[in-house]
Amino acid sequence: MSQSRSTWARRLALGSLALLIGCATQTGFAPNPATRLNANSVAPQNKLANYRADFNPTFQNSFMQNRQLVRTGYTTVKVNYTNPLQVSQLNELGMDVWMVLPRYVLGQVNAEVFERLKQSRLQFELISPEPGLSAKNNFDPQYHTYDETIAELRDFAARYPQLAKLKDVGDTWEKANNKANRDLWALQITGPGEATQKPGILFLGNHHARELVTVEIPLLLIRHLLENYGKDPQITELINNRDIWILPMVNPDGHILAEQGQNWRKNTNSSFQRGRGVDLNRNYGYKWNTGGSSSSPTSDTFHGGAPFSEPETQAIRDFVRSRPNLKIMMSYHSFSNLILWPWGYTTNRVPDKRLIDIGNELGRLTGYKPQQAADLYVASGITDDWTYGELKIYSYTTEIGSWGDGFDPPYSRVQQFWAENRPAAMYLIDMAGKL
Ligand SMILES: [Zn+2]
Repeated sequence: MSQSRSTWARRLALGSLALLIGCATQTGFAPNPATRLNANSVAPQNKLANYRADFNPTFQNSFMQNRQLVRTGYTTVKVNYTNPLQVSQLNELGMDVWMVLPRYVLGQVNAEVFERLKQSRLQFELISPEPGLSAKNNFDPQYHTYDETIAELRDFAARYPQLAKLKDVGDTWEKANNKANRDLWALQITGPGEATQKPGILFLGNHHARELVTVEIPLLLIRHLLENYGKDPQITELINNRDIWILPMVNPDGHILAEQGQNWRKNTNSSFQRGRGVDLNRNYGYKWNTGGSSSSPTSDTFHGGAPFSEPETQAIRDFVRSRPNLKIMMSYHSFSNLILWPWGYTTNRVPDKRLIDIGNELGRLTGYKPQQAADLYVASGITDDWTYGELKIYSYTTEIGSWGDGFDPPYSRVQQFWAENRPAAMYLIDMAGKL
């Protein structure tokens, strides 16, 4: 499909063709709470679906069934595979892979990739009711916007001046190109003493714009730490003896689009003739462009023109290099209920069994499936491969949420996600001092 026709399709999406489908669901979502979560609220441990080999994804059991459907030009598909290599090939084809099951890959294709898929030998079925029709993302207003995220970080720094400092670690693409004024903000949490002499840990959220819960978990972690300092002896000791850095939003430009209900993954780099945005989690400079990423700017897995071509990944790179005390990095993504570790670019094993042991423990604590990233599918230029590959920082990715949650679950689901991820985050902060 030509660029002009997909633009046409996008205009239609904004028009009156949007149709609303029934809201009766069996997903068991609780009504939204009146206020945002308290970091200490305890959710029932209701483990999410562990998909069996015979799980058959359909429109009816997807998050799409209770979303508004619009003509986005994107089609949600399930593609059969028999060989794991085919999953990596789908990434290279430009498919936006969301979830890998024992027999199927689920994800989204634009019109161009849909044509390529039809020409491939792969068998596939639609999850979308028809080509070009997919779910409109919801932005439940209880999720933090970029502005609200910054306001909350400033508020924490002001309320806890002895413990928390806010640092601007770099610009977004739109700021670097004089189109907007957004920065990547990190909050440092540490007690008395020289922070650079303490073991450090870094938590990152929201490399991918639409993955809304990945902003909330870092913010809840900040609140949990600061509000319990001086009350909970374990937390007090961890804050006193660690250098904790939490950066809830790596991709503010993209997040602005997600706040408008767009199904947006990448940053918003508009310097390409066709397509827009670079996949920030394919742009890191370790084994960049060695498989599982796309060279097409129209693709959701576009790796950019060069390693670290984007201001956002440059900011993370320069920040991480400037803190040689960092021992552990955790990057939050959604969805799939997974714990992942390096390598992503190859199925070869890391030489360090300890990194894998910690990953397995994270799996036990969250209830998510722990595995090497490349065992899901090969992807190069990812954050973890660079932080581990260049700096030997123990690096992990958490994929939060299930096929029923998608990228934009109601905010009421955050309570469950926090209950799953809080013990794992506290375990990592502890482990940073034991490596
Ligand atoms: Zn992601």
